[in-house]
Amino acid sequence: MSKRDYYEVLGVDKNAADPEIKKAYRTLARKYHPDVNKETDAEQKFKEVREAYEVLSDSNKRAQYDRFGHQASQQGGFGESGFGGFDFDINDIFSSFFGGGASRRSQQQNAPRKGQDIHKRMRVNFDEAVKGGKKTIRTTVYEECTSCHGSGAHSKDDIKTCSKCQGSGTITVEQQSLFGRTRTQTACPQCGGAGKTVERKCETCQGEGVVGKEKKVNVNIPEGVDNNNQLRMPGFGHKGINGGPPGDLYIVFEVEESETFERHGDDLAVELPITFPQAALGDEIVVPTPYGNVKLKVPAGTQSHKTFRLRGKGMPNLRSKRKGDLHVVIKVITPTNLSKKQQQLLEELSSTDLTNDESIWQKVKAKIKK
Ligand SMILES: [Zn+2]
Ligand SMILES: [Zn+2]
Repeated sequence: MSKRDYYEVLGVDKNAADPEIKKAYRTLARKYHPDVNKETDAEQKFKEVREAYEVLSDSNKRAQYDRFGHQASQQGGFGESGFGGFDFDINDIFSSFFGGGASRRSQQQNAPRKGQDIHKRMRVNFDEAVKGGKKTIRTTVYEECTSCHGSGAHSKDDIKTCSKCQGSGTITVEQQSLFGRTRTQTACPQCGGAGKTVERKCETCQGEGVVGKEKKVNVNIPEGVDNNNQLRMPGFGHKGINGGPPGDLYIVFEVEESETFERHGDDLAVELPITFPQAALGDEIVVPTPYGNVKLKVPAGTQSHKTFRLRGKGMPNLRSKRKGDLHVVIKVITPTNLSKKQQQLLEELSSTDLTNDESIWQKVKAKIKK
């Protein structure tokens, strides 16, 4: 059975912010909760929703999921425990949504809470990955509305118990089907499950309880950053509720590939084409490195695919900043479109025993120089 995309399960956009994901999860969890929904596949759907939320609400797991999809869990990419094991109690979720936990919920509403985390992707080119640097990103930071303190209401008197569900947050729907009448409990459409409605909305936040502010954040790109590396910027997330601390900002880097270098962790490889005479006679060749060109002495008799190692010319290690090596892979080019003279020389060369006659190299060298 193929697994559905987690974003699809929750019905949210790939770039959905944490509050949106949470909201979608709550709505769906309410809808499919096995104690409420008696349809045969409700429990299965509930589990699917819970699993999607477990991953998308966790910044690390979400980043890995974005990158590797469902494979992330199969490869154990989410840590030793994987994310197969969900340890929260079904009844606990239930009571926090519905009547049972109402008193606890209202207590929690006044308790300080940490703000939500923000996730952003940042694309950097190869040179920026080598040398590090600074880049500015724009992000919308939500903070509690100072006018209504998060209630979304113009005044305290404007918060009313929902008239449709009498504050329970759920309603019972009767449906006529082929199997007879079925009764299903579902989230109250009038209050969205909150059990309360707001008569006159707060003018500052239009009833949202939070206001978003566009902020510019300077991000330090670490030297040696690699694809999918994550940078945590504590306190740069959404603002906390009731005096709680702000959330964190997570930057996930996407590093563009270099046209010249192939990266293997901290080491780099570059292919260096040389001519047959250069390989046979030896030469000093200019090699590109991420830190500028350097000269490399290629000895006489160098074979194609021979590799030279330039120490300390690779990528800086993300933690130690010690640089890896650059592997220079020689590629001897077989000439095409030979001139008459070149053809003559090669014919002369092939008529001799190349493996034994040392002096032939001197002869060839002398002729080429002419
Ligand atoms: Zn209601
Ligand atoms: Zn407000």
